[in-house]
Amino acid sequence: MRRLKKRYGDVFKYEREFIAYYVKKHYGDPFSVLVAVILSQNTTEKNAFEAWFSLERGLGRVTPENVLKAGVEKIEELIRKAGLQKQKARAIYEAAKKWFELEKAIRDGHPEPLLRIKGIGRKTVDVVMMSFGHRAFPVDTHIKRVVQRLEWASGNYKRISEKLKELFAGKEMEAHMLLILHGRRTCKAKKPDCAGCPLRDLCPYAGGLGTTTALTGPSGPGK
Ligand code: SF4
Repeated sequence: MRRLKKRYGDVFKYEREFIAYYVKKHYGDPFSVLVAVILSQNTTEKNAFEAWFSLERGLGRVTPENVLKAGVEKIEELIRKAGLQKQKARAIYEAAKKWFELEKAIRDGHPEPLLRIKGIGRKTVDVVMMSFGHRAFPVDTHIKRVVQRLEWASGNYKRISEKLKELFAGKEMEAHMLLILHGRRTCKAKKPDCAGCPLRDLCPYAGGLGTTTALTGPSGPGK
């Protein structure tokens, strides 16, 4: 963490690269955050932002009432830029319909009612829960790749998430954002920049070919 912070600086300054963080900071309510995270599924952050602002322009404010008033087809049209608009519009509409129950679930940190909505999966719920102060560690494709290369965690979503919660207890949000940033900028899927990586001497994958070339020395996520 220290090394990633040294490399990237204060991760919260990259707010326009993290839609959930941006929407939480500037709008603050759980419905907006849930919608933003749904928009960000399987697309780039840039597309998710465009869809968010289009939705906001179209609705005035992104509230359950306005979503229900607009209807699924209108939502679909407004969020087209995010892709998978049919599925996402349906999930947003269903969430608006059940908002009374879902809002309570978010407040109480209970994922189950959210997970019952088609189109809302574990990662989406974890981002929302983490954004509202509950202990969760969402694992996206960047985080999964980075921590597996570093051998900090492995296995399925649940195992990786639990391990990272344990490793970064109390700093989940910051660690989550730093690992994503690292995956996007340095530890890329195809060509990781291992030579320029601040974690190189901790990483068994350094060199990019999965060979054990880590230098000896102290290791661990805290370094
Ligand atoms: S050394 Fe290479 S593979 Fe390991 S974390 Fe850094 S960029 Fe990723």
